[in-house]
Amino acid sequence: MAEQADFAYLRAMASQEIEELSQALARLPGLGPRSARRAVLHLMKRRESALQPLLAALQRVADRLSTCSTCGNVDTSDPCSICRDPRRDEKSLCVVEEVADLWALDRSRLFPGAFHVLGGRLSALEGVRPEDLSIDRLVARVAAGGIDEVVLAMNATLEGQTTAHYLAERLERFPIRLTQLAHGLPVGGELDYLDEGTLAQALRARRPVD
Ligand SMILES: [Zn+2]
Repeated sequence: MAEQADFAYLRAMASQEIEELSQALARLPGLGPRSARRAVLHLMKRRESALQPLLAALQRVADRLSTCSTCGNVDTSDPCSICRDPRRDEKSLCVVEEVADLWALDRSRLFPGAFHVLGGRLSALEGVRPEDLSIDRLVARVAAGGIDEVVLAMNATLEGQTTAHYLAERLERFPIRLTQLAHGLPVGGELDYLDEGTLAQALRARRPVD
């Protein structure tokens, strides 16, 4: 009840512009109407220290946003910061379903190699076929040579595992070590939602694809 009364108050008090900002923020993942309103109030009270820097940061990212043509990561440069990092071990390649998985693994700082984002997972139900994913590009990267190990870091879901099996078949003919995350991963678990300890454990205990 209190929530509803609060919302009605803001509706009546706020201009169209502020209402639109609240609604835009409320559509972001992890935010709802209530936290969106709080964020808007916070920004309005701190125009110099919060609103302007946020605006500038959003604008910079919006101007330079690009998808990495090598790995599929989303960044403000192409090649992305990870692909350009000379400290990365290019001999190991970690294949993930989504950019969020790449970021989750990269946050764990346990994988020193390069990444490849498929852009989804195979799904008969949703009609996602191999040609809908960045699989040919992955095969081309491996075929180009210089890669010793490919880690299939798919989610521990049925579709993730189907995708891993398909990739294992496509990569079979190359002289590489093919590994996958250990199944300390909870069944149905999605990488992005795992705590870093679990993720680190799964990566450390990765095993050959059978
Ligand atoms: Zn990249």
